[in-house]
Amino acid sequence: MRVGFGWDLHRLAAGRPLILGGMEIPFEKGCLGHSDGDVVLHAVTDAILGASASGDIGDHFRDTDPKWKDARSFFFVKKALELAAEKGMKVGNIDITLILERPKLYDFKGEIAANVASLLGIDSSDVSFKAKTREGLGEAGRGEAVECFAVVLMEEVSK
Ligand code: MG
Repeated sequence: MRVGFGWDLHRLAAGRPLILGGMEIPFEKGCLGHSDGDVVLHAVTDAILGASASGDIGDHFRDTDPKWKDARSFFFVKKALELAAEKGMKVGNIDITLILERPKLYDFKGEIAANVASLLGIDSSDVSFKAKTREGLGEAGRGEAVECFAVVLMEEVSK
């Protein structure tokens, strides 16, 4: 087994859709970014790349490359899974913590977790998605940014 850790942060800005774990969440602001700015899937991608020691998201998808402009981030996750599979690894379980002051994600957490599970090809019971606030402190607390952490356990694919 191998463990991988991923972290990401995006600024929040008006006029952008808020896409978290592949789901569009109704809100007046969204993540700024070259791609769709899905901070959850970026942290997930980096965690998978980390577990398989395959570099980081910027190595594979440069944010200066027009090819990735407004790209849907599920593509990044799929590529990370492919690289891990080439090294004989698949995802066992993943634990995700999102830091976001607003909107409240209570009604969306289950669907986001199910979305991530389907993207990773694992059972929903192997995906944990937690949302927390920063109690008004720091960039995320002031609603200027959203931050995400992900820890993944990768297992050897049985032959
Ligand atoms: Mg990012």
